[in-house]
Amino acid sequence: MPLPPREIDDLAARVLARERAAIAEALNLTEDRRAPARAQVSMLLSRLRASGAIDRAHRVGVTGPPGVGKSTLVSALVREIRAGARANTVGVIAVDPSSIRSGGALLGDRMRIAPDPDDAGVFVRSLATAGEQGGLARSVPLGVLVLSAAFDVTLVETVGVGQTETDVGHVVDAVAFVVQPGSGDALQFLKAGIMEVPDILVVNKADQAELARRAMAELRSALASLHGVGIGKRGDVPLLATSALDGTGVPALWKALAAHRERLATSGELAPRRRAGAIAWGARSFVRRHGEAGVERVGGEAALEAALAARIDAGEEIPTIIESLLI
Ligand code: GDP
Repeated sequence: MPLPPREIDDLAARVLARERAAIAEALNLTEDRRAPARAQVSMLLSRLRASGAIDRAHRVGVTGPPGVGKSTLVSALVREIRAGARANTVGVIAVDPSSIRSGGALLGDRMRIAPDPDDAGVFVRSLATAGEQGGLARSVPLGVLVLSAAFDVTLVETVGVGQTETDVGHVVDAVAFVVQPGSGDALQFLKAGIMEVPDILVVNKADQAELARRAMAELRSALASLHGVGIGKRGDVPLLATSALDGTGVPALWKALAAHRERLATSGELAPRRRAGAIAWGARSFVRRHGEAGVERVGGEAALEAALAARIDAGEEIPTIIESLLI
């Protein structure tokens, strides 16, 4: 049953107050693909946005191949963020494409990021997307926005190659790409141009000392040579080593993420980056919903992007725009 507007107002207020049941209900709404739910999600997001909370939030994507230690690292980051002087609150969405889902959310022992149950400042949602063919994963950007209204920091863990591969890259302020020593993945992806240069590169399992040192050296020279031929936003992509198991390097990683966010804000890049991300995410969603024929009907790709930009600038939310652009 569609929720009446008054109930959406109430839900938004409860999300902003970090009521756990309300946050869970709002996340469920983001996963509902029926048209009335789409409209409600847009309404909810615009209420949350009006409070300023979504703009204030810090959103970080943690991505990389399976098994490199992303879940362990996200857990360690949560501890680090909570232990900091500001004790920022943290929301987490973890997308696990290898797990079988049970009613959308992962259950019990499948939950790989286990927060302290008594800590009201942490909220974790794990999504098992096996067999979903991206259906559930598509709701993740919406979920990230909902969490970012409720928490100071939102972390989203996805399996992936680069930020262009996932919608998630479009709603985060930074993508940290995690690799493990000896795999050579990032090196190959970077060199082959499969992967965009991430905002931060992390070599986890640095306790494997010799291998980790070699991986760091290889990545450092790959980044330098890419920068030399004009690829990569800057020459100074932070490259960090962590051991998520014992916490080594985790404070430095959080510092680097905070510094990156600070730099975006002070240089004036944050708002344009978020706007460009919303347009790109909207374009991808539109193509999935209406296909190439839909793109033709709005006059081609450039016209689609211009229409998205105009409506985003007018304060509309992506789900509504996607539903109504062709009408
Ligand atoms: P994910 O698939 O990328 O989320 O990886 P997980 O966090 O599930 O970790 C995969 C495996 O690597 C687990 O057995 C972890 O205990 C292990 N692991 C994670 N971080 C480290 C680390 O820093 N050092 C070592 N040696 N093992 C780690």
